[in-house]
Amino acid sequence: MNLEPHAGPAAALDRVDVERVRRDFPILQQRIRDRPLVYLDNAATTQKPLTVIYALQRYYTAENANIHRGVHFLSQQGTFAYERSRARLRQFINAGDNREVIFVRGTTEAINLVAQSWGRRFLRPGDEIVLSHLEHHANIVPWQMIAAEREARIRVASIDDQGGFRFDEYEKLLNERTRMVAVTHASNALGTVLPVKEITAAAHRWGARVLIDGAQSVPHLAVDVRDLDCDFYAFSGHKVFGPTGVGVLYGKEAVLEEMPPYQTGGEMIRSVSFDKTTFNELPHKFEAGTPHIAGGIAMEAAVDYVNALGRARIEAYEAQLLVYGTEVLSQVPGLRLLGTAASKVGVLSFTLDAAHPHDIGTILDTEGIAIRTGHHCAQPVMQRFGVPATARASLAFYNTREELDALASALRKVNEVFR
Ligand code: PMP
Repeated sequence: MNLEPHAGPAAALDRVDVERVRRDFPILQQRIRDRPLVYLDNAATTQKPLTVIYALQRYYTAENANIHRGVHFLSQQGTFAYERSRARLRQFINAGDNREVIFVRGTTEAINLVAQSWGRRFLRPGDEIVLSHLEHHANIVPWQMIAAEREARIRVASIDDQGGFRFDEYEKLLNERTRMVAVTHASNALGTVLPVKEITAAAHRWGARVLIDGAQSVPHLAVDVRDLDCDFYAFSGHKVFGPTGVGVLYGKEAVLEEMPPYQTGGEMIRSVSFDKTTFNELPHKFEAGTPHIAGGIAMEAAVDYVNALGRARIEAYEAQLLVYGTEVLSQVPGLRLLGTAASKVGVLSFTLDAAHPHDIGTILDTEGIAIRTGHHCAQPVMQRFGVPATARASLAFYNTREELDALASALRKVNEVFR
């Protein structure tokens, strides 16, 4: 297993390193349809290193017990491991306190939690919620629901033809009615990275709260919630090399303290009687019921893996891959890239004149190449570019130039099939 730190944060991964890294991901060794698997669907979910797989296996093999309440050995050990993972996740995003790190099912649940709990308490008729045109449905629909209930209004910050965030237009939307700005850090459909620190500062000047959807940024960029100064930051474990069914909502302690519980039941209470119930302290106030214990514990292994590789090195390597991928795809006849903003994570969204995205995906699959086709749960982005769907190749640090060459050559074959 390859977990020793590499040469230094400034150095980019080289080919040899990538081959070593790939050996930590057993799924990548597979052949699919009699070809080496080329996995380019990392924005949908990432693959898991052996350390994460072993953490899950170890938990169910030797450690399984319910946490937080038991006095017996396994329960205490599980509680310790779960809380240690929370502390590691706090470090990972540089939150100030473990109480600010709430385990949730994933980004979707995190955003629903904030929309329902914070929204019900603080939104008044006529208040405004600002979103961007780049949002995943998970950062649109929860706000629409609570806006309808509270008679608040959604406003949308526009994007330019490259898929870049129009900061000047965004600033014009802000006013004394703005209560919440909820934006993605990186777009899953186009890869655009938004200037979330500046977005947050501008929102705060109007007294609004800020939620950042970090589902697509945490796997690729170093994230420092205190530097960003956002009120909430959400991400999913499965997109950052951890298990499905677990994720994190970061919230500033003072803001979380003001919010009522989201779900209720066990774990989130201090005392219950039929006359009066008092709630548990943070973060447990927002963690009703038995959590995904194994998943929470395995997140520590996921974070350790990313840290051992080095986030600066991951960023540098993926930036090179993105440049290379952009070049090779641009040479495919009839290919149109959507999303060419200056600041991007490794997402290559495209259409081909010759074929519908679903046909592209199906033909690529016969070559063992996994990409995603469709609207990527970001229909407003598709509408902005006047397409019903795109094909999307999304990168992780274990991808290689050779895989991008394989993608480009398979796309040429698609062109031939539909000629
Ligand atoms: N936001 C963005 C930007 C995403 O890419 C995704 C997942 N595609 C989500 C939110 C939702 O994440 P999850 O399904 O893990 O809750």
